[in-house]
This record gives sequence, structure tokens and C-alpha cells, in this order.
Amino acid sequence: MSLNTQILFAAIIGLAFGFFLKYNPDLSFFDSSIYLLGIASSIFIGLLKMLLIPLIFSSIVVGVSNLQSGGQLGRVWKTTLICCVTTTTLALILGIGCAHLFEVGKGMNINLFQEAMQSHQTPDTMTPSAFFTNFIQNTLINPFKAFSDGNVLAVVVFALFLGVALVKGGERFNSIRGLSQQFFDLMMMLVGWVMKLAPLGILALLAKLVATEDISILSRLAEFAAVVTGTTIFHGLVVLPLLLWIFGRMSPIRFFRGARIPLVTAFATSSSSAVMPLSLKAAQENLGVRPHIAGFVIPLGTQLNMDGTALYEAAAALFIANLIGLDLSLGQQVIVCLTAMIASLGAPGIPSAGMVTMIMVLQSVGLPAEAIAILLPIDRLLDTVRTVVNVQGDMMISVVVDRYSQPAKDLQSEV
Ligand code: ASP
Repeated sequence: MSLNTQILFAAIIGLAFGFFLKYNPDLSFFDSSIYLLGIASSIFIGLLKMLLIPLIFSSIVVGVSNLQSGGQLGRVWKTTLICCVTTTTLALILGIGCAHLFEVGKGMNINLFQEAMQSHQTPDTMTPSAFFTNFIQNTLINPFKAFSDGNVLAVVVFALFLGVALVKGGERFNSIRGLSQQFFDLMMMLVGWVMKLAPLGILALLAKLVATEDISILSRLAEFAAVVTGTTIFHGLVVLPLLLWIFGRMSPIRFFRGARIPLVTAFATSSSSAVMPLSLKAAQENLGVRPHIAGFVIPLGTQLNMDGTALYEAAAALFIANLIGLDLSLGQQVIVCLTAMIASLGAPGIPSAGMVTMIMVLQSVGLPAEAIAILLPIDRLLDTVRTVVNVQGDMMISVVVDRYSQPAKDLQSEV
């Protein structure tokens, strides 16, 4: 049975068991069941939290040091980075905007995470100068301290420095580059193992949620899933094609025809890494991207550019805040967006990776990591569409970068 099917069954069994417990609170095993379900879900969430820092670190070091293997510096990577940042920013704005527009999760006040919230300090809103001082003090620190404290931002900054140094240092650091790649592969393997526990984790989380909470939360969840899916599809069918048309001078119809196979595979596998070889082939053979450009942009984009994931994480943070009855200030929403951008940078292209990095987005504004419990049951469903948009973004960027990195006279004659 595939993991997807197992998760589906687990969700159904979890819901059924949760309802059973909810309507039979006098059963002798009620308390012990809730206790055991709590333990099972904590193990699952704990394992995800355990992998977060090493995963983000290795993913960013490997992603940035790939700049070297592409042998491209200057114009190509600058255009690539500008495209990545622009499309991700648009995705974040869309995600936050639609979450506001449809007021996802508003009007409920669940106390499932009260305990976690109490032990967690919500950062105060700060003046911009205090924000920057705080940012510098918390970010430019001893990396070992950052690792042990779980300070994700500081880890990201160190990983970026290290990645750039590996690019600049050239061949003599090949062994470290290889080691980083292997370490990253190992982390991916561990994530794979943890995901094997996902059916059990989801069963426990859902059963506990239904048994102990007001179940109208489930209808809120469906509402949220519909809003996120709709917004992600809008990004993929309207925003990205428009950018491609304006900056890449390619008709969306031609693009979708050429990119069909990787996109469908992305939907089926929920893994942009797994689809990467197909995206590379399609970009070169069907979209006319020169091989050296595709060979650089697609692997890097697979690692670092995830519009669908960023959109989802920003909207989900707002959803959780609304569910808990917490109003995020504008400053906190900006922090959510920045962190979601970094989180999408650090998420490897594997199923549900966004769920692991989601933890840092929640924690950035003091929301409890445990809240991902609410999102987990629908994550695999949402992952299909967001992975398609992640892959689509990489291929579109390769078309735009290809156009902008052509010799100047070619570009002019084309215009
Ligand atoms: N599954 C996504 C991808 O491979 C990552 C995520 O979980 O958001 O692109």
C-alpha cells in the first residue's frame, strides 16, 4: 500500500476512533486512550522537530554550493535569484491576502494548545530599529549555539555563508561539498523514515483532536484546504503564466504543453526532487532552454524556489493564529512572510517537507509547533497542488533566465 493510501486510511480510522471516544467518554479506557494517543503524536512531532535544523542547514549549503557545479556566476545566478525572490514574494502576498479575505479559521477559540501557548512567549511588536538590533544580535551568533538553541534564522545565515564560501573556494573544497551532499542525503533518508510513521502519527493526532475538541474545527479545516488550493491554483494558472508571458515571451499554452509530464508527475509524487530529472529534460527539449542554463536553474530552483510551499506556510500560520484566537500584528505578519520565505528555501523537495519547516514559521511569532497537528491530516492532499506549482515555478524561471542571459544583441533583435 502506498504511503498516500496508508495516510488516507489512517485519517479515516483516526476520525472514526476519535468520534467513538468523544461519544463514549465513560468508557474505562477513555483516559488511557487519550494518554496513549498523546504519546504517539508527541513522538511523531518530536521526530519532525529533531530533523528540522540539520535538514535546513544541509539543504541550504547544498543548494547554494550547487552554484559552483553549474559553473555559472554573474548574470545567470543574479537573474535566477531575482526571479525566485519575486515569485515567492508574490506567492506570500497572495497567501496572506487570501487568508485575510476569507478569514480562514476565524471565530473559533480552541484550547487544544493552551498548554503549549502558556510556555511560549509571543514576541512583542517592536520598533524597526529595535527589530534590527534584535535581528543582528540573534542572527550573527556562534553557529554551534544556534544549532543547539534551534535558532533557525542564525542557522540559515551560517549555511548561506558556508555555501557561498564553498562556491568561491572552488575545487579545493570538493570533499566538503561532497560531504554536505551526503549529509543532506542522509537527512532525507531520515525524513523518509519519519514519514513512514506518518500514518500512525496522523491517526493519533486526529483521534485525539476529535475526541477532545469541538469538532466544528473539521469544517474549518475543509474551508482552509479549499482556500489554499484555490489560491495556489490561481498562482499557477494566472500569476506565473503572466510573468512568463511578459518576461519570458512564451505563451502559457506552449509552456503547459511542454511541461505536462513533469507537472503531472509532481502531482502524483508530491516531490519536486523526484521530478527534477523530468523537469530538466522538458525544459531543454520542449521549452527550448539551453542545456547549461536549465542544468543550473532547475536543480537550484528545486532546492530553493518553492512558491506553493511559501504560499501554504504563510496562509497556514494565519489560519492557526485565527483558530487560537490570536490577532497577528502587521509586524508579525511580515515576520511570518520572511520566515515562510526562508522555510521554503530550506524545505527539500520531498513529500510533506513543508510540514517540517512549517514549525519554524509558527514559532517565529510564538505559535505552538504542536499546532501542525491540525494541518497534518490535510497536508498530503494540499502537497499535491503545491508541488505542481513548485515545479512549474522552476521551469518558468529557467525560461526567463534563458532569455535574459542571451547575448545582448539576440535579446534586442527578439524585442
Ligand atoms: N512536497 C513539496 C515539494 O516537493 C515540498 C513541500 O512539502 O512543500 O516540492
